Parts: sequence; C-alpha cells; structure tokens
Amino acid sequence: MNKHQKIQVLPPHEALKIAAGEVIERPAHVVKELVENALDAGATTIDVHIKKVGKELIRIVDNGCGMSSADANLCFLPHATSKISHLDDLENIQSFGFRGEALASIAAISKVTLITKSEHAAIDDLATQLVYGQSMLQSQSEVVAPQGTDISIADLFFNTPVRKKFLKQDETEWNATQQIVHAFCLSYSHIHFRLYHDNKLVLNAPPVQTAKERASQLWDYDCSQNLIPLTTSDENTQTQSYPFTITGFISHHNFWRYGRQQMHFFVNNRWVKNAELGKGLLKGYLNVLPPDRFPIALIFITISPQSIDVNVHPKKEEVKFVRPGVVQMALATMVKKTLEQHLSTKLGNVQTQTGAPLAYTQQHSPLAPTRPSFQDTFHMPEPYVFPNAAQIAGRQFIQTPPNSPSKLHEDELEAIFSGKPEITSFIPPEQQVQMPLTHPEAGDTSTILGQLFNTYIMLEKSDEIVFVDQHAAHERVLFEKFQKNFELQHGTTLLFPEVLTFSPQTIIDLMLNKTFFDQQGIDLDILGEQQIVIRSAPPHIKGSSLKELITDAILFIQEHHALDRSLFGKEFNLHLHCQMACKSAVKAGDVLTQQQIKQLIDDLQNTENRFICAHGRPTTWSISKAEFEKQFKRC
Ligand code: ADP
Ligand code: MG
Repeated sequence: MNKHQKIQVLPPHEALKIAAGEVIERPAHVVKELVENALDAGATTIDVHIKKVGKELIRIVDNGCGMSSADANLCFLPHATSKISHLDDLENIQSFGFRGEALASIAAISKVTLITKSEHAAIDDLATQLVYGQSMLQSQSEVVAPQGTDISIADLFFNTPVRKKFLKQDETEWNATQQIVHAFCLSYSHIHFRLYHDNKLVLNAPPVQTAKERASQLWDYDCSQNLIPLTTSDENTQTQSYPFTITGFISHHNFWRYGRQQMHFFVNNRWVKNAELGKGLLKGYLNVLPPDRFPIALIFITISPQSIDVNVHPKKEEVKFVRPGVVQMALATMVKKTLEQHLSTKLGNVQTQTGAPLAYTQQHSPLAPTRPSFQDTFHMPEPYVFPNAAQIAGRQFIQTPPNSPSKLHEDELEAIFSGKPEITSFIPPEQQVQMPLTHPEAGDTSTILGQLFNTYIMLEKSDEIVFVDQHAAHERVLFEKFQKNFELQHGTTLLFPEVLTFSPQTIIDLMLNKTFFDQQGIDLDILGEQQIVIRSAPPHIKGSSLKELITDAILFIQEHHALDRSLFGKEFNLHLHCQMACKSAVKAGDVLTQQQIKQLIDDLQNTENRFICAHGRPTTWSISKAEFEKQFKRC
C-alpha cells in the first residue's frame, strides 16, 4: 500500500458485520427477523427456543414452505431474497422481508445451522443442513427432517465484542424477546406459537379466532376481559382518496395501565411504532381516562402498501403514512364512538317493567316534600335541598320507592335518630326499575339498585354493577343542554331583581361583555357606580348561585381579556355553561327518587360525551361480577 494512501476497502465479512449492526442490536431482533421469515414462508406452527436469553442460542422451527438445497445455499448471501425482483415490486410489498439482508447479517455475527426441506420435496427426500461461521460455509450435509425450516443461531455477537458488551441486563433482553413474540402472537392469532426458555415451555398459544382471545392466552385474565371490539363504522372504511380500514380491541373507560406498553399498533399486520397512531388512540380517550393512565389497545390497520413507507427504519419498526392526519383522526373518532356505545350498553335505556314511561307522582311524606317533576327538578330553581329529620341528623337516608309514600321501618328511624350506624338501603326487588339495553335485541336489562351514600346511583347489569356519580352525570347532561341551546337562552325574569356590588372597574368589565351575558339569558344593567342589577337569569340559577356565577365570570373576563373577540366569546360561553351546569346539577348528598334516577340515566344516555362531567371527572364506573367473585374467592 502506498504510504500516503489512507483509504482501504473493508473485506466483505467486515462490511457485513457493520451492516448487521443496523438490523441486529439484540437477541430480540434475531427472533423478529427469523419469525418474519417463517411467517413469509407460510408456516402455521412456529416454535421459538431461547437459551440464556438468546446469547447462547436462538432457534426457530417452522413448518413453512422450506427451501431447496440450491436456495439454501443462496439465502445467506447479501441481497438474496425470493420476495422482490424489481425495485417496482417494493411499492407492492406484502411480505415482511424484502431486502435479503437478515440472514446475511445474522450469519456475519454468529454461528448458524440451517436445516430446511422444501414443500416440493418428496416425503423420503432428505433435508439440507448448512453450517455457517463468520459468513463462511463451514459444512453441508443431508439430514432427515420434516418439511419446513429449523434455524439455530448460536453465540450471537461472538465476533463483535463491543455490541455484546452493550447488551442490557438479561431480564431486559428477555423482556424484549417476549414482547416481540407476543406481538406476533397478537397479529397472527391463527398461528400456533410456542416459546421455550432454557428448555422450559413458557408460552403455548394454539390457534384462536381473534386477537382478544390471543390476548387472554398471553396476559392475565383481567386484561383481555376488559377489551371491547372497535365499533365498525364509516370511519373504518376509508375516505375515497386514501382508503384504509381499522379494526381491533381497546380497553373500556374503567380499565387502564400506568404506561403505554400495551398500546399495540399493527399496520398490514406488521407491529409498528407510530406517533400519529398513538396520538389518535389517546385523543379517542380524551377526558375518559385519568391523567397519566393509558389504555390497552390492539389496533390493526389495513392499507395499500403504496400508501405507506415501511422503509423509514432499518428494522422496519416504524411506518410512515402518506396522510398521517387522516388515519389519526379516523382512529380517534372510532375509539371515542366505541367507548360511548359501550357505556350506552351499560347504562341501558330506562323503562318501567311494563314498558310505560315513569310518570311522576308527587310524594307526600315527611321525608319526601312536594317538589316538581324530575324534568323540572333538573332545571329546578333551587339547589336540591332536603329538609328532613334524617338530613338534620346528618345521616344517610332511605331510598324512596316510586309512586308510593316513603315509609321508614321503625328500626331504620331509630337508627337515624339514635346515632346508630348509617343505613344505606336499596330499592326492594319488587320495586326496582328494569331498564332494557339500548339494543333491545340483546334482551338484556339493567336494574336500578338504588343510591349509594346519596351520591352515586347503582345499577345492576347482567354481569356487572355500574356506578354513576349523580352530580357529575347531571352536570354533563345540563352542560350539553346549555351548549346546544347556545344563544337561544331566554332568561327567567326575577321576581326580586338581584343587586350586586363590585368595584367600578369590574362594573366596566361586565358591561363591556354584556352581549355575552345576554346570550345566556342574564340581563344585567348598571345601577350605580359600584352596583349592577340583574333582572333575569338562566332558568335554573338563583340567589347565591347567581352571585357566584357572575363573580366567576368576572374572573374569567379579567384573565382572558387578551383573547381575540370571537375566541373569547366561545371560551366564555363554554366556561359559563360549565359553571351553570355545575351550579344547577344535583349535588352529592341529594336524595333522588327512582323517577329522578331513571330520568338522569336516560338523559345521560342521550349526551354526547357521557364519560365525564363538564370538569373532566368520570361520570360512570363499573365492577364486573368476576371481580366480585375474585374478592369472595369464588374463582
Ligand atoms: P428477506 O426476508 O428480506 O427476503 P432474509 O435474509 O431474511 O431476506 O431471507 C432470505 C431468503 O431466504 C428469503 O427471501 C427466503 O426465500 C429464504 N428464507 C429465509 N428464511 C426462510 C424460512 N424460514 N423458510 C423458507 N424460506 C426462508
Ligand atoms: Mg427476512
């Protein structure tokens, strides 16, 4: 070599070792490439054997199409592939592999034994066995083996010590391998997978019909039981110009994880990472899950290969959509719809046993003072107060059955007045209201069991108990009502106009925004330098609530005056509606009659965003029968 010449061309096996670094960084990547090859080969049974988390041995045995002796001799060459012959084919690629580099790369950094027999071989034909080391063929022989491919990778990274040094703790490497195998299991539920670690069978997943059934083979019972299928709707069948379909399973709103690790996305059955899909999924759960909680999701997107690019990542772990926004939006909408429909099914459509709508009958009893019908109650002028002995004593209170004077049993009365433990009583079975589900063909009904702690409504539905927070639910109902009637509000003229005192600057702020108040039916006028008079108010707000509402509105105006006018108007209305809903809704502690409960559940059913109150708290929550049985150690 000329002493001034610095450049030299790497020998092929060194170049391959470097290239291998892109594809294979850890044992899990070898597993991924080899299982993909088995799937591409049409295998229906795939066994994965791992020893010492893959550092000692990775062996994949499949019953796919196998290879002829000639193909077996070619498959370890760089760029040797049976899956693509022209660059144009890349556009239409349906298989996992297509670059012909996995086997070449793996053979550069390990000791490989391949035993393979083609589907075209006769039963008594022998299989080809090849042994490779340092990318060089070490030996070739013929052996007895069934159709398919059995490939063993020993001593991974034996000649790349740096890469070996960078391997993580055994547990981390093993987790990564398990995750890969699980992902294949989820997307290929019709394939029989077995995973062995150090000769022990750690997973046996025979073929099943759905990804949900697969999930129950892989995860704990709870996880898979809490998965619901994505609703099929227009969103999952594409826009004309950018067609794709979305199917899958998601966890419902009462079940969550503390991390994203069980949010799985598959594009054309390839397990991928994709930020847009992650965002779309979480958008669908917006305000449904508590902060920093994540759903379980198995999302399958089928899309024409021309509409995506899987080549953005050397390990093909990422995928790029040509129109990511469209896919994200469709996923978010589908998830939201699915969650809403699921909750509808839980709540049911409230009806009486006879099917007739419940009519309100005024109840005359010392414990149920005369009050307007529930429809009115939900627009009632006063906060829902309950002036009775039980309340004075600060005690829980007995549920009033419908259409009948409420009766307290003597011992219950005694408990209330003598300070004995609180009683939470439920509606007697003969008086419980049955609620057919939204889909009557399901033939399933929910039953109102009663009120818990005068705060939550409890319903029984086939195999679960559903709890509804009465304040949160009512707040949501009213909020949506206010939002729908936006700018159509007619205030109720107050018999005694309300006079409120504020600083002169506040009065100016209020008057500058008078139109927004008008839109809500709040008619305010200047009375003096420091006083305003309110002549009409939204139908449900009165007295102290009105003052609170205006004071709150002032704070909002002062904090948001910098916003542009139309945005301010929108935000202001939203804020007012939220406050009005909160102030008019029944409170925790208000005793509700069955009619009121029924009406509330009915109304909640008809709201668009029924999971959360206007402030983002959940309205509904449930416990399954299985959970009960677990607590009582019945299962
Ligand atoms: P690619 O999958 O990108 O084609 P690989 O290096 O992974 O590249 O494999 C090279 C070729 O070897 C494949 O195209 C296929 O023809 C053959 N092959 C690899 N694994 C198997 C297998 N398990 N069964 C049958 N053929 C296989
Ligand atoms: Mg491959």
